[in-house]
Amino acid sequence: MTTKTTTNDAVTIDNIITLCKSRGFVFPGSDIYDGLANTWDYGPLGVELKNHIKKLWWREFVTANENSVGLDGGILMNRNVWVASGHVSGFSDPLMDCKECQTRTRADKLIENNDANINADGWTNQALEDYINQHHLVCPNCGKFNWTPIRQFNLMFETHRGVTKDNADQIFLRPETAQSEYINFQNVQRSMRLKVPFGIGQIGKAFRNEITPGNFIFRTVEFEQMEHQFFCHANDSMAWYEKYKQKIWHFITKVLGVREENLRFHDHEKLVFYAKAACDMEYHFPFGWGELNGTHHRGVHDLTNHQNLSKKSMEYLDPITNEKYIPTVIESSQGVERLFLAILCDAYRTETLADGDTRVVLKLNPNLAPYQICVLPLQKKGLTETATKLYRELQQNFNVTYDDAGSIGKRYRRQDEIGTPLCITVDYDTLEDQSVTIRDRDTMEQVRVKLTDLNAKINELLTKSF
Ligand SMILES: [Zn+2]
Repeated sequence: MTTKTTTNDAVTIDNIITLCKSRGFVFPGSDIYDGLANTWDYGPLGVELKNHIKKLWWREFVTANENSVGLDGGILMNRNVWVASGHVSGFSDPLMDCKECQTRTRADKLIENNDANINADGWTNQALEDYINQHHLVCPNCGKFNWTPIRQFNLMFETHRGVTKDNADQIFLRPETAQSEYINFQNVQRSMRLKVPFGIGQIGKAFRNEITPGNFIFRTVEFEQMEHQFFCHANDSMAWYEKYKQKIWHFITKVLGVREENLRFHDHEKLVFYAKAACDMEYHFPFGWGELNGTHHRGVHDLTNHQNLSKKSMEYLDPITNEKYIPTVIESSQGVERLFLAILCDAYRTETLADGDTRVVLKLNPNLAPYQICVLPLQKKGLTETATKLYRELQQNFNVTYDDAGSIGKRYRRQDEIGTPLCITVDYDTLEDQSVTIRDRDTMEQVRVKLTDLNAKINELLTKSF
């Protein structure tokens, strides 16, 4: 088939939300009870895509990364972990209530939304209030000007262990996963007999009680982090920082296949006092540039704080130089859901075909696609047995789905829309010549292949550059 297609890669967030809900990627959380703000459930195709992202990241940063091991820390930790990390005292948003309509607003965001040149991060409550009064910034919900004073609300979800509600029993759902690696630094180093430099990678859930609306799954109260903490000597730390910047660029562009023109690094001009360098990697979402990754040079801040509060040594004794020191930490951190969203936005295309027909196609890297292959009998009559047998065989080696409902054209479109790279059609000739047709998602070209050569041909097609 010759194809003359016009491709449009302009995508709106509504295109993605509609696709996600109708095709089983992402559903609104608690949907039948009218939802719960900023929560989402991942459907049958969403969980496959998520698992593929995590598997590829784990390989890149843990199993195939020199000097790296994995960890799966608990969500609940001793309260002192969050005292030492600074989250108990400092992890908060400046909020105020509108006395007219009772909605809550973040004071810093209200100012930044009024003037995009302002970064109100770190302003005192007094400075925020002064600005809001001077510029008469009204409630975005009702348009009135009648604010309560600004108060700081901690972003950690708080709960209590046991039956009493004493402060001593107060615990938190972790707002980030990284602290597990810091507090287990000695456990991991000793049990695995590791020498600095080495890294610990982890994938797990974290929770933040944010009120800022989220741009679909970009900002959610429950999310999954993939992060890697690398422990090294201060003298080599900037070289490792640069290496991890390059590593995340390689991972997102080459391993996941996100287009370079939609990505950029954004160096932090304003650094927290302990950091030597920090940058974000950003993706150009339909709603603007948004952070995907943070690569941070954290100095000795984290291990020192835990050493001070726990009174347990976080020092490392170099067996060759006999130098005793607290290692410097280079952090590489990303949210699974944000990468998920970037991948979908990046892969989404609408195409007008030569015959005037249109299709939506997700040009996903085959390693990410929920299904690599769809098996389709041309008709149910007389072909179901052969097609099902082939489907079962291919399942041994690939992620495969099966579709026999509706016209063949409609079935191809359904697979295009969920990003399945290859469709394999069983027809009446198959019964005679032991061959099937493979259709390529991107070119829509079809090739006839002997069943005996099928596995080799699939492997060849799935590894060509998409
Ligand atoms: Zn209001």
